[in-house]
Amino acid sequence: SRATWGFIGLGRMGYPMARNLRLKIPADDSLVIFDVNQSASKKFLAEMGSAASGGVVVAGSVSEVAEQSETIITMLPEPQHVKSVFTSIFSTPPRTRKLFIDCSTIDIATSLAVGASVRSSSPSEFVDAPVSGGVVGAQAGTLTFMLGAPAVLLPEVVPALSHMGTRVLHCGPVGSGLAGKLANNYLLAITNIATAEAMNLGVKLGLEKKVLKDLINVSSGRCWSSEVNNPVDTATRGFEGGFGIALMKKDLGLAIKAAEEVGAKLEMGVKASEVYESAEKDEGCKGRDFSVVYRWLGGNEDA
Ligand code: NAD
Repeated sequence: SRATWGFIGLGRMGYPMARNLRLKIPADDSLVIFDVNQSASKKFLAEMGSAASGGVVVAGSVSEVAEQSETIITMLPEPQHVKSVFTSIFSTPPRTRKLFIDCSTIDIATSLAVGASVRSSSPSEFVDAPVSGGVVGAQAGTLTFMLGAPAVLLPEVVPALSHMGTRVLHCGPVGSGLAGKLANNYLLAITNIATAEAMNLGVKLGLEKKVLKDLINVSSGRCWSSEVNNPVDTATRGFEGGFGIALMKKDLGLAIKAAEEVGAKLEMGVKASEVYESAEKDEGCKGRDFSVVYRWLGGNEDA
């Protein structure tokens, strides 16, 4: 039978995710969208609202999205946005069952609190499914979802997410998708800085950039930052696009907060935060891909 879908938050990630969702679900399924930024919804309607792709309804509020859909995906920037969206929806709790899938990268405590209030005030479910793969993965529909959900919901959640990505990693109960995401991004925050430092060091020692990059990528220092997002490569596009330094700083802050909550010692995190904070204030680095740390270090950007 006809399914009803909702999508809240049509930003850099949400827009292409909702686009893939609309393209993959049957034409007679409905898709109801909302973003506080009305131009995002208008653009989506203009691009995707034709009958051929199945149609799109722009809701007037997040509550309208929830009223009109059974499966609702949220892709919002920060904890306070997720909290405020769910406070609005649950000012009048839905009486029928809804499945809420939150793909935002937020802190575990906020996510658990929102989920608990969803379950206690309605027959609905709330799961965390933050993503990896960036804007490119969102556009291509190749995201990896890190899912925190009770196993009984997998037959419902996995096919829903598969419209927008190629992998759904079930990490454990609610909250564990975010735990996985924050641990991974903690590591990325550090390896990105270390890669920039190592590249800068080797180049200053007189090595050719390509020689050093190729050496590292067949040796034990190899990592995503050296192989896929090497700063000597991202420098050639002026560090435009990619994963914004502000988002990296936010995710690192969330990981540090989570570590404090469980008493996990993090030696590198505080120093790395200082680096991102300082780099983000630099006019030449602000708003760019997080590998711009190489520029902040004074790395050689010649082609
Ligand atoms: P974004 O800022 O581009 O988009 C967020 C959207 O949410 C905006 O369109 C904004 O208008 C909308 N919004 C804010 N408050 C709202 C509200 N109350 N109701 C409805 N809409 C609201 O952010 P993004 O890059 O799409 O990232 C979203 C999340 O995904 C973040 O938590 C981010 O950390 C995470 N993420 C981003 C990337 C990336 O590469 N950009 C990768 C993985 C994960």
